[in-house]
Amino acid sequence: MKTKILKNTKEDIEKAARILRDGGLVAFPTETVYGLGANAFDEKAVAAVYEAKGRPSDNPMIVHISRASDIGQLTRRLSPDIVTLIENFWPGPLTLVVKKRPEVPDRTTGGLDTVAVRMPDNETALELISTALCPVAAPSANLSGSPSPTRAVDVIEDLDGKVDAIIQGEDCRVGIESTVVDMTGDVPTILRPGIITAENLEAALGKKVEYDKAITGKNGGIDGDYKPKSPGMKYKHYAPKAEMIVVEGERARVKAEIERLKGLNERLGNNVGVILFEEKAFIEAAHDFFARLRDLDKEGVDLILAGALSDTDGVGFAVMNRMLKSAGYNIVRVQ
Ligand code: AMP
Ligand code: MG
Repeated sequence: MKTKILKNTKEDIEKAARILRDGGLVAFPTETVYGLGANAFDEKAVAAVYEAKGRPSDNPMIVHISRASDIGQLTRRLSPDIVTLIENFWPGPLTLVVKKRPEVPDRTTGGLDTVAVRMPDNETALELISTALCPVAAPSANLSGSPSPTRAVDVIEDLDGKVDAIIQGEDCRVGIESTVVDMTGDVPTILRPGIITAENLEAALGKKVEYDKAITGKNGGIDGDYKPKSPGMKYKHYAPKAEMIVVEGERARVKAEIERLKGLNERLGNNVGVILFEEKAFIEAAHDFFARLRDLDKEGVDLILAGALSDTDGVGFAVMNRMLKSAGYNIVRVQ
């Protein structure tokens, strides 16, 4: 397949919208990471997204809308809490899991009776969706398992020749995927952490929210028989080609241990890359993390040593969720 590389001009966005309407696949920028979109109501188009990404078919997609009121096409009723979150955080990096209307295809929701919905905070994405005149199902625009794409070049690297079009926009402002919150139970439950934190949600709702055990449990809660509510949390994720180790502990010791491991491995002839963010610079870490993984892979490193961020529930915690998965929970602790 020949992939059209488009710009984020009005004319090109119209071309891309037409492709979506005709059942094609278009990768586009959002504020979180690039998405690979299809008409959410077109089962064949949605099936083609799974195919292009090599994504397991039980891992549901987030449906993107361009006006908050369009959530009515996907779910019948909105609780007061859902309305509060929409008013406070949309457009923005917050995905709400709600009961789905029967019209939403099982393909889109991985067979679940719920649907994940978000209104992105990105001009190009909003214009594309509103011109396409349909909600757009879009997982991240990478090959399944590889680091999420935060720059147009990353998308081209993974999906050129596999999708109908790629819109080249700016680098993603946030750099990690949206916070996903399950709104179908009594207590709002975070299924995937992001830059909108538990504290942000609690401040808006005036009540406690919980984390799914897949996030707080050891090894992502996937060691035991716990079944994560968000199917995507159980798969191998974000993995660079290089082997990766996360070094955790007091900062000065982490730095020293990284230097020691780097030296030892270089002496064995390995090419070693290091990811060590400024202390407490969590927003920058979120912005840079996936891009750093991809750049180190391009440099052909054999081993990546990453310093853990010390944060238990904020933005740094959301980055750590990705970092630990990238490393396959390969952790060294220093005291
Ligand atoms: P991605 O599209 O790659 O950003 O991944 C979307 C994430 O949202 C995955 O972790 C999915 O498992 C999760 N997700 C999507 N729809 C639902 C749903 N209906 N219920 C729970 N999690 C969902
Ligand atoms: Mg993804």
